[in-house]
Amino acid sequence: MSSSMCPSQCRPCQAGIIYRPVRERSAEKVVKLAEQGIAAGGYEELAMLSLSTGDYSCLSPALSRLMDTFVKQHVSVSMPSMRVGTLTPEIIQQIKRVRKTGFTLAPEAGTDRLRQVINKGITEDDLLTTCREVFAHGWKLIKFYFMFGLPTETMDDVKAISELVRRATKTAPGKNPRINVSVATFVPKPHTPFQWEPQLTIEEGYERIDLLKRSLPKSCQLKWHNPRQSFLEGVMSRGDRRLSMVIEEAWKLGSRLDAWTEHFDLELWQKAGAACNIDLSDYLRQRDLSEILPWQHLHTGVDESFLVAEFFKALEGIYTEDCRVHACQKCGACDFKTIKPVVQCKAKDSEIQESVEDFPAAKETAQETAEHGVINKEQGSAERFRCRFFYSRTGDMRFLSHLEVIQLFFQAFRRANLQVHFSQGFNPVPKVSFSPALPVGTESMAEYMDVDLKQPVTDQEFMIKSLHRQLPEGCEIVKVALSKDSKTKVANEMLTCYRISLGRPLSQEDQNRVQGFLDKESVTVSKVRKGKLRQYDIRQQVGELSAQQNNTIELIQVSRQDKASSKPMEIIKEVFELTEDEVLDARIVKLWSTQAK
Ligand code: SF4
Repeated sequence: MSSSMCPSQCRPCQAGIIYRPVRERSAEKVVKLAEQGIAAGGYEELAMLSLSTGDYSCLSPALSRLMDTFVKQHVSVSMPSMRVGTLTPEIIQQIKRVRKTGFTLAPEAGTDRLRQVINKGITEDDLLTTCREVFAHGWKLIKFYFMFGLPTETMDDVKAISELVRRATKTAPGKNPRINVSVATFVPKPHTPFQWEPQLTIEEGYERIDLLKRSLPKSCQLKWHNPRQSFLEGVMSRGDRRLSMVIEEAWKLGSRLDAWTEHFDLELWQKAGAACNIDLSDYLRQRDLSEILPWQHLHTGVDESFLVAEFFKALEGIYTEDCRVHACQKCGACDFKTIKPVVQCKAKDSEIQESVEDFPAAKETAQETAEHGVINKEQGSAERFRCRFFYSRTGDMRFLSHLEVIQLFFQAFRRANLQVHFSQGFNPVPKVSFSPALPVGTESMAEYMDVDLKQPVTDQEFMIKSLHRQLPEGCEIVKVALSKDSKTKVANEMLTCYRISLGRPLSQEDQNRVQGFLDKESVTVSKVRKGKLRQYDIRQQVGELSAQQNNTIELIQVSRQDKASSKPMEIIKEVFELTEDEVLDARIVKLWSTQAK
């Protein structure tokens, strides 16, 4: 939300070319948009996104202002795409004020030489300095992101990643610091200085992953993007119009949802290519500078002569400077009348720091932070008013998971401005405990949550009305009552009543099935849970089961804390011998739940 482009001139980056020139929003605008967004959405995290947030020239004052606004609301501010060298101690300190969000740093390559080729503009010393700062501020884990297959790369550059990780780990003052590494095959993208370069083969990708697996420290977790998927991404990025036939053919062969590893099948794509007489790997080959490229008719605003010049500068490791701070590099994107860079605070560090003056509150907080370190203690009333909110979840709300319902209420509380106590620590969460999780697909008239409010409920009707305005259809607060217990005790044995409709009239045969089930002492069903085949006696879990006059079934399930329970739909499936589709047609509503006597 801060700026439209990264001012660095990293050569592999397509977005850095097509979004030129840099155009920044003012700090006031950024803060206003953030306030409006959080008020309307109720989210607990605000992400400052741009191609390189750390390069936003007003970041320091804007961040101080955002923190002042959101620290009391326990809304954390994260900046997922920080470029090494832009993460200053002031910014790290600000992020710490609410929550320690993770740091992902992108050295991209293992050696300074290769980083010069890609014009990354950072050295190993810069990287180690940043790691030292982050660890010194209490973080235990930093994630590094690298690409392999960059132009001119050798296996020595890949090996150097492991050495770099070792050196970065040693910058931590405390015990057990961790650096995790993510790697992916570099896809030479159209409209970049590397558009003529070849992409690694799948085998070369795996070779590099194997090398890293062998050489990285044991404490380092390695994650890699599947080189087979990168192959297809390269094909899609660098292909020509004939690819449309391949896509249609792959679809006919059954290819679906290829971004999901469990669905991805490269063989289908290879077959589709063969059926269209296209060798897919041909799209990943090196291109001659004189070759007409499939994307050449599209103009990004950046001159091709600039890309060629950058390509040769890359081979010689010559640095191209940030045109925001230094002179225009004559890429061709600006006409300097209607299209020109927009930089809010002229990008010299001293000037950016001084612009904190524009925000007196930010200056005070910066001082406060410097004096007291982490400020995430509860502000305001320490008094607690524990209330039990009874609510129903019906209709489409049955498809939400328990965690989604929790998030839904947390966001609704925030939007309704309900003052709730938060837990302490680095990841404060609202002090709310929910009734046991409901199986997905089950409706309920009998859910509750215990909420630690900062103020007593003086006007229940008004509060319920305010919350309803923020809740989706199907989610309804039924009543609110004072809850005396500081901790809700969960009974060992619970009875839960469900009303079930099979989506068809009940027959005499159904009645017989109910009776047949009740006559048995034990009915064992098998189920795979957590990768193991387990057996459950569902008869022991059924207190009562009866077919009602109105074509519904009433089930009273007995569940024990110390034993795994079956879902009501699993019981019904067994009793009425339903198919998977018939189970999905059934409507199950939880009516009440109580402790067993
Ligand atoms: S024309 Fe000059 S100022 Fe504009 S984006 Fe290109 S290098 Fe930067």
